[in-house]
Amino acid sequence: MTTPIKVAVAGANGRMGRALLSLLAADPDFAFVGGIGREAAAGAGLIDRSAAMAAADVILDFTTGAAAAELAGLCAAAGGPALVIGATGFEPDELERIAEAAGTIPILRSGNFSIGINMLVGLVSQAARALPAHGWDIEILEAHHNQKIDAPSGTALMLGEAAAEGRGVSLASVERRGRDGITGGRPPGEIGFAVLRAGGLVGEHAVLFAAAEEVLTLSHSALDRGMFARGALAAARWIAGRAPGEYNMRDVLGLT
Ligand code: NAP
Repeated sequence: MTTPIKVAVAGANGRMGRALLSLLAADPDFAFVGGIGREAAAGAGLIDRSAAMAAADVILDFTTGAAAAELAGLCAAAGGPALVIGATGFEPDELERIAEAAGTIPILRSGNFSIGINMLVGLVSQAARALPAHGWDIEILEAHHNQKIDAPSGTALMLGEAAAEGRGVSLASVERRGRDGITGGRPPGEIGFAVLRAGGLVGEHAVLFAAAEEVLTLSHSALDRGMFARGALAAARWIAGRAPGEYNMRDVLGLT
């Protein structure tokens, strides 16, 4: 029998944290060393960040962009453990801090751990490469539950990055986040984002490639957040013992 991977969960008290804790309890590949949270995670035991860093091989972070970037810096300063970051909603400087930390420790960050979404990322990039910006407008729609705090979703941004990459441009130079008022016509090449927040939706994403006479829609529906948690555990298995660097879920799934 192989030695279980010691894991801690940051955000243990949240929706994703609770989904992870229930999977970890039943998985012999892992030894759960504690939850990190602002309040005690029900039945899970609460440890502080230093104790988690000392005890864990891998920390799974499902908190916020700011908290995850701070944890990445602390883990890098301590020389470990590895990090799997599922949190979304990053400011550019927080992403820079994560990239810097990945010079010292292995960090896998993904705005979405589902197999289907990571397949969709590849398909969107392929379609954006094939369909010219003059004649084909790209719009990204996402819908989530009414408690989600960041917008557009990390997944919508992943899809936007894939579309921009397919067109050989940076997303920052072509993105349009929401429209309101007298907006004028749509500039060719723009990549638009539209956001809905309603009820208990787990995660809906669609990418439209719209021409004057036809529309191609690539879409994905998340039915249960257990799927994200299973993907995050696959990422934890994959990253344990890896060299420092920045990885993503497409590396785990062999889709790169
Ligand atoms: P949630 O239910 O609001 O849980 C967030 C957790 O983070 C809470 O336990 C919260 O603690 C904790 N937290 C917030 N700020 C913190 C801080 N500064 N330090 C330590 N802990 C902090 O949210 P969720 O639905 O679980 O989602 C969590 C994150 O994962 C979001 O960014 C979401 O977008 C992302 N997500 C990613 C995926 C993916 O596949 N990558 C899938 C789903 C969700 P309290 O309980 O004390 O407030």
